[in-house]
Amino acid sequence: CGIIGYTGDSTALDVLLTGLSSLEYRGYDSAGVAVSDTTLSVHKCEGELSALKAVLPDGSVRGHTGIGHTRWSTHGPPSNVNAHPHTDCDGQIAVVHNGIIENYQALRHDLKARGHTFDGETDTEIVPHLIEEFLAEGADQETAFRQAIDRLKGSYAIAAVFTASETVYAARHESPLVLGIGEDGHYLASDVPAFIEYTNQVIYLNDGEFATITPDGVTVTDSAGIVVDAPVETILWSP
Ligand code: GLU
Repeated sequence: CGIIGYTGDSTALDVLLTGLSSLEYRGYDSAGVAVSDTTLSVHKCEGELSALKAVLPDGSVRGHTGIGHTRWSTHGPPSNVNAHPHTDCDGQIAVVHNGIIENYQALRHDLKARGHTFDGETDTEIVPHLIEEFLAEGADQETAFRQAIDRLKGSYAIAAVFTASETVYAARHESPLVLGIGEDGHYLASDVPAFIEYTNQVIYLNDGEFATITPDGVTVTDSAGIVVDAPVETILWSP
């Protein structure tokens, strides 16, 4: 299973599909992408990358910011609805996740009691709904993302995008996540091969850290929100 994210000058879908094909070696049962533009374009399905490509509309996904996922299911069988990305009720927030959210049942129960409806059975689907709750309480995107992550117990590499936004938000705890600093944009992935053809400048996130990725740069913060002076490493091998 794997995560890829991108924001920058290029068409995000191309970067995401290239990244997902480089993560195929990790094995998976479903794949999906979400691209932010004036609306959020989410496409996902059970099966291999070729199955996802077959359901992608021709040429209409043109946004420059997005996330992609290959799923190795732990909660909820492989299916189109259980494939990531998952979205909130209004389709304004999309989330991909690797790992296991151990307290998802209690969170899902609370969210249902507050009127949220769920399409599938994954542990992940609560995350966009939690973000939606905090946004509705008046938090900005980054604060809402952080507040949602703070509620989670378990292991996760998580990335989120919002409608009409060029920012990708990410967090990790006991699942790998690496950032790529490129000339034409910035990347995030479960593993370096996903973006090595675009850049060899990387920042490895540590457990408990958050990243905010924009076309102009990446910011890494710790769990308290303090900016971390994360070292940029140069990868010396090529694919
Ligand atoms: N626990 C999540 C799911 O079952 C993520 C699995 C993964 O790491 O791919 O959908």
